[in-house]
Amino acid sequence: MEAFQNIIGNQGAKEYFNRAISKNQLSHSYIFEGPYGVGKNTFAIELAKIIMCESEHGDKPCNECSSCHMINAGTHPDLIVIDKDTNVTKVDNIRDNLIREMEIKPYRAEHKVVIVKAADTVNVQGQNAMLKTIEEPPSYGIIILVCENMGSLLPTIKSRCITVRFNPLNKEETDQYLMSRGVTGTRKDVVSKLSDGSIGVINDVLDDEHYMEVRRQTVGFIERLGRANLMEIYDMVKEMTDLKEDLEQILKFWLLWYRDVAVYKTSKSRELYYVDYQKQLLDMSSKLTYNKVSQNIEHIKKAILDIKQNIYSTFVIENLLLQLKERKK
Ligand SMILES: [Zn+2]
Repeated sequence: MEAFQNIIGNQGAKEYFNRAISKNQLSHSYIFEGPYGVGKNTFAIELAKIIMCESEHGDKPCNECSSCHMINAGTHPDLIVIDKDTNVTKVDNIRDNLIREMEIKPYRAEHKVVIVKAADTVNVQGQNAMLKTIEEPPSYGIIILVCENMGSLLPTIKSRCITVRFNPLNKEETDQYLMSRGVTGTRKDVVSKLSDGSIGVINDVLDDEHYMEVRRQTVGFIERLGRANLMEIYDMVKEMTDLKEDLEQILKFWLLWYRDVAVYKTSKSRELYYVDYQKQLLDMSSKLTYNKVSQNIEHIKKAILDIKQNIYSTFVIENLLLQLKERKK
């Protein structure tokens, strides 16, 4: 039996580490890069478990020894997981939990593993501080920097680490996971399309009724906008901006909506995000030209960017609704 059995997808990473572990050729520093929710952190923990497992014989991790138990419980003294502080990971967090910890020999294992979650949020000060530890790691040290975008890491850090890519699950793996969670039928198709191969998104959707509620709301807004006069548009601006933290998600859902409309206009493909709203999609695609649909997509993309950059949301949404409503061109 091979290790990493419980990790879905990411065959490349599994093969790489199976080989490295069997040849005893683990490196001291890794970058795990890949999109949200595709198993990077889970993989890092599993790797630590394999490295530290105390089973004398048989496959690792055994999930039975005290080391495995402690890692499962999050209490192993030689595994340190660094979470981001707020939006960034500050230098003090790196100093206390990476640099100082790496100076201390492992308590019970042969290795000490530090996993830096969201390493692309470590500020420049923090990255500079960890550079020396990465350049001259202790013999027992293994550092794993987990990130969605290694573009934010200093070139000096990147060049010292081995990069392991993590990819979204393919459709088969996604469906397999959904079925293991008891999701079938249309709901499976909907969540599968929404997830884009991210287990994290699947879990968000399944564990958070609110997510699906926002999606329903999104379609409601689109239908209202179709009928709205100027007065009602201003009501909608107010209602939407009042949603605050959900606003960006609504715009992302709108983007998917108009992509679906474009799909309806251009192909017979029924690979849709909104498989459960086909009548409404058909209706809208018959009313809008292809040009108008692609303009709308660009307007929404711009609005998402503006909101991200903290431009006054009432202004952004008002502008967007008027643009979407525009008839000509
Ligand atoms: Zn074990």
